[in-house]
Amino acid sequence: MSEILIVVVIIVFGLALVGLGIGASRRARRRTDQIARDLGIPEEELPLLPDTLPPVVTVPEVEPTVEAPTEFAEPEAPEPEAAPRVKPRLRDRLGKTRAAFAGALGALRGGGSIDDDTWDELEEALILADVGVPTTTRILDDVKARVAADKITTVDGVGEVLRAELASLLEVGDRDLACPAGETNVWMFVGVNGVGKTTTIAKLAQRETGEGRTVVLAAADTFRAAAAEQLATWADRVGADLVRGQDGADPGSVVFDAMSAAQSRDADLVLVDTAGRLHTKVNLMEELKKLRRIVDRTPGALKEVLLVVDASTGQNGLAQARQFAEAVDVTGVVLTKLDGTAKGGIVLAIQAELGIPVKLVGVGESADDLMAFEPTEFVAALFEG
Ligand code: GDP
Ligand code: MG
Repeated sequence: MSEILIVVVIIVFGLALVGLGIGASRRARRRTDQIARDLGIPEEELPLLPDTLPPVVTVPEVEPTVEAPTEFAEPEAPEPEAAPRVKPRLRDRLGKTRAAFAGALGALRGGGSIDDDTWDELEEALILADVGVPTTTRILDDVKARVAADKITTVDGVGEVLRAELASLLEVGDRDLACPAGETNVWMFVGVNGVGKTTTIAKLAQRETGEGRTVVLAAADTFRAAAAEQLATWADRVGADLVRGQDGADPGSVVFDAMSAAQSRDADLVLVDTAGRLHTKVNLMEELKKLRRIVDRTPGALKEVLLVVDASTGQNGLAQARQFAEAVDVTGVVLTKLDGTAKGGIVLAIQAELGIPVKLVGVGESADDLMAFEPTEFVAALFEG
């Protein structure tokens, strides 16, 4: 029986080999025919070509000897952790706002004596930089009064008076962020959607943990599903604790849990992220008041209510600020996205019209791009050529 099986296997194997041979010789014939036709040579004169072609030899790529100029080289993506921390400079990040002011200041620097054009150009530049009409009028009135009182006749002199006027306009209130040692301190962040609340919290969490404080982040923006995730990523990165609820959970319960967690861990600081959009504005303001009341159950814990305003929204940002300031007692403004906008003049409008100090400015998207707002540095940056 087994002999029969062996014989059958040998026969099948043999037939397969013959088949392959026939196939191979047919393929060789077809290739020969094709080449003969392509070259116009009688078929008989061509040798039968082998069925398989020699293996393709890949030539190793030769490095070009001419080096690409370094300024065109793609920068390597920096490792987030390994990247050296470069402290941003306000002057460098204010490029567009500086350019908006430059028109007016250029006219003032041109020398000569004061005429109607001087005031017109100055007014136009201040409006263009989104200082807003009321604040622009106030600045011009003050500057004109000083110029008259001091009998200033040159355009250069007006520049000096303007500089002093802007600096004094910005001298509003106390810019410190309160965080006394040995107690639970809460900073709440409010503002419409997309202005940079969560990013600002992340930046501050990094700064405060870097200064040795224990920080708890409260993800009380439960309205938007991705908000807690965004905060969780940052908490992880900067080494802060995170308290979050289910999506759509009551933000009040998140704040309550965060307060309890902070107290049981003796944390120094709770940063409360809130939703920027609810079904109606009334709803949003009521929600914020409610969160505030929950924090106030620990008397004295609420140290800051920081209104986050996107500088690039200019006068709209001012209107928002007014509404938030009416609903919750805002202790300071964080003005974000000052890099990339020409509307930095909004700083002046917020302080002059609302009397709320701008405490921090955001000048980029990375964790280091947050600065304490320094009025003299800001004004100097506008005036430096
Ligand atoms: P939220 O809705 O108020 O929490 O806003 P987010 O923190 O989510 O920020 C919205 C967008 O603004 C994100 O893409 C941020 O990276 C960006 N952003 C925040 N702050 C700044 C800033 O200072 N400069 C720039 N250029 N972008 C910023
Ligand atoms: Mg957010």
